[in-house]
Amino acid sequence: MILLRKVHPIRRKVCYTEFIRKNKIALTGNEGIALNWLQRFMMGRYGVDQMTVALLVCMMVLTLLSSLFLFMPFYLLAFALMIWSLFRILSRNRAARARENEKFLVFWNQLKGVGNRIKQWFRNMQRRFRDRKTYLYFKCPNCKKELRVPRGKGNLEVTCPLCRSKFMKKS
Ligand SMILES: [Zn+2]
Repeated sequence: MILLRKVHPIRRKVCYTEFIRKNKIALTGNEGIALNWLQRFMMGRYGVDQMTVALLVCMMVLTLLSSLFLFMPFYLLAFALMIWSLFRILSRNRAARARENEKFLVFWNQLKGVGNRIKQWFRNMQRRFRDRKTYLYFKCPNCKKELRVPRGKGNLEVTCPLCRSKFMKKS
C-alpha cells in the first residue's frame, strides 16, 4: 500500500505487480484482481476505527432486538447505523472522521466512568446488606460522608474521618 501510494496513478498497476513479485505473494487469477480492486477502492478512504466498531455493535444489538420484539423503529435505527458506518469507512475526509472518533473516545471514557460508579454503588449496597446485623450505616451530619459503627455498643462518640466533626450515635 505504502509503495503504491508514492507512484503516479498510471504507473500504479505496473508497480502493483512488481510489489507482488518482490514480496513473493502468490496470487492467481481472480484473487489478484479482487485484491487490486479493493486496494484501489479503499485508497485514500478512512477505514474502520473504534467509533465505527461501536456503531456496528449497536447495529447488531438493535437488529437482534428488532427481530426478537418485531419492533420496527429498532430495525430502522439499525439500518441508519449501518449506513452511517459505511459512510465513515468509505469517507475521504479522514481529518473530520478522526476528529469524530476523538470525541467518541472522550464520550466512551465518560461512559466507563459512569459504569464504574454504578458498579461501586451496587458493591456498597451488597456490603451493607451483608453486614446489616453487625454494623450500623449512617451519614456524617456535617459532610454527608458514609460511616459505620458496630451495632449494640450503646451510645458512641463518633469522629468523622473526613471532616473531623464529633457527634453522638446510638449503635
Ligand atoms: Zn464528616
